Amino acid sequence: MADEAKYMEAARVAVARACRVCRSVQDRLDDVKAICKDDKSPVTVADFASQAVVAETLREMTGRCHMVGEEDSTALREQIGRGETGAADEMLGAVRTVWDTAAMDEALDAIDLGNADPAEHRRGYWTLDPIDGTKGFLRNQQYAIALAWIEHGSPVLAVMGCPNLSTDHSFPLSERDGRGSLYMAIAGGGVYELHADKPDGDPIHIKRLERDPSEPVRMCESAEGGHTSHDDAERIIETLGEAAEPARLDSQAKYAVVARGQADLYLRLPKPGKPYVEKIWDHAAGSLVAREAGCSVTDVFGHELDFGHGSRLEKNRGVVVGEIALHGKAMAAIEALGIGRG
Ligand code: AMP
Ligand code: MG
Repeated sequence: MADEAKYMEAARVAVARACRVCRSVQDRLDDVKAICKDDKSPVTVADFASQAVVAETLREMTGRCHMVGEEDSTALREQIGRGETGAADEMLGAVRTVWDTAAMDEALDAIDLGNADPAEHRRGYWTLDPIDGTKGFLRNQQYAIALAWIEHGSPVLAVMGCPNLSTDHSFPLSERDGRGSLYMAIAGGGVYELHADKPDGDPIHIKRLERDPSEPVRMCESAEGGHTSHDDAERIIETLGEAAEPARLDSQAKYAVVARGQADLYLRLPKPGKPYVEKIWDHAAGSLVAREAGCSVTDVFGHELDFGHGSRLEKNRGVVVGEIALHGKAMAAIEALGIGRG
């Protein structure tokens, strides 16, 4: 890609700023909940603010921002039109923690920089999940700000911020870390880890080591039973030998956890009888982080994830990420058990 260094620098600054925005909302989650009407609104506030800040930073630092983002400002504008400004004011307050001159219309327009149509940007575009792992955000556990540049159907540059994920592997995944971690990956150029609260520190190169086959298999999966079949994961794990208790956590932080060797396998298995097509922003950044660490990333049929079909992974079902040898074994088990065909 052209201007790789410039794009990476912009993405790193954008995601680090969004991490600060999300933390600021999380630090006062109870106040925000009191202002917002329902339990989803605090997430909405942080989602919108995160997207506005990422998009505006990319636009400012690279001169443009063609982005396929998860959010758009329609709901906020409608609320403002009805005179209900609570959530919009909270959003703007959060945006101003890092963009202090932002006016309401500027913040709303920045959110809408995420409305790009992938079909119109064949030479490349950003995709963003401004808060991946909504439930984890609300529980004060794992969530991610996931940004990637897609070119010719593949993510080629990614920055993923995990504000609650400690760089210390002995720290429990279910607890909030004070510093968080941030991953930067370039296709063919490896993946690097930083503290999310100190994004100008020295990046550490992440490489997935071969698994010691005498150790129990450590699997991770979505905390949400609606997003993956926990039962099928158990059936697969049973075929792979001794297994540790699976780690359940929200968001693309799972890709990072496998990339850095804290887990061996991430299984995201289609629920039988419930076809679901994954969204590009839920996998673009995480999948590049895992691949660049040396992990295998495919769907349940062993196909590479194909980001060249609009905003969804139309050609794929489920996701399997793992240390290379274990990924092969998991694929054989998936095939033998007929998983993904229902
Ligand atoms: P996770 O935290 O890994 O459970 O993933 C969260 C993401 O799952 C959200 O951002 C949603 O876009 C996505 N999602 C929503 N419904 C489903 C579903 N039925 N199957 C798989 N993923 C889903
Ligand atoms: Mg998401």
